[in-house]
Amino acid sequence: MATAPIRVTVWHEFRHEKKSEKVLATYPKGMHEAIAEGLRDSLGAQASVRTATLDEPCHGLTDEVLANTDVMTWWGHTAHGEVQDAIVDKVHKRVLEGMGLIVLHSGHYSKIFRKLMGTGCGLKWREVGELERLWCVNPGHPIADGLPEHFELPSEEMYGELFDIPQPDELVFLGWFEGGEVFRSGCCWTRGKGKVFYFQPGHETYPQYFNPTIRKVIANAVQYVAPRAGSPYSLAAPNTKPLSPITPRK
Ligand code: ZN
Repeated sequence: MATAPIRVTVWHEFRHEKKSEKVLATYPKGMHEAIAEGLRDSLGAQASVRTATLDEPCHGLTDEVLANTDVMTWWGHTAHGEVQDAIVDKVHKRVLEGMGLIVLHSGHYSKIFRKLMGTGCGLKWREVGELERLWCVNPGHPIADGLPEHFELPSEEMYGELFDIPQPDELVFLGWFEGGEVFRSGCCWTRGKGKVFYFQPGHETYPQYFNPTIRKVIANAVQYVAPRAGSPYSLAAPNTKPLSPITPRK
């Protein structure tokens, strides 16, 4: 039976590429196009993928786009503060309604991630280009489907604990860095009807979003956080009639 494609919006701040030749050389079309290309290659007809960027009107996230997005990916770093609160509120509402959200790398400090987590979302960091080894610590999880026990990124920015997040509902990846730190690199939460996945790799000067294993993780995550059809639950808080007769007690 054919199912409707998952409608994905890849959101990107898209500022580093305009200011840094090194980043532009790594991502000539922008990081969003690399992420989108990976999803199109991995998911084919299972997904329809569009991009949206900060400097577009409404940051590319019009009401029409939001209403027609099942899963959003979010990469931001240098301009978190420029994202309009009204847009953040709309994205937040869509997550509670069931839209999946995949927050990438420095998106840990984005307004939307902090609003969804309710904590500071800080972490240790160091940018020297060190080896990261990612361990899958939840091999039965759908996001780990088809992935090896561990894989390596030759160079990545170190993100280290303590990562100031609520305890994840599910932990999928643990990152270890050459300098000794560890990090909860792949974490899932549920907020309202929506699923949120945070995935740590993706510093702008390293080509992680061309890496087939990273692409596989993000494609698996899109399928995992996509809303399930037919959930009958209301997010409203209605005063409700009893299912069976009650004799009120004084
Ligand atoms: Zn970074």
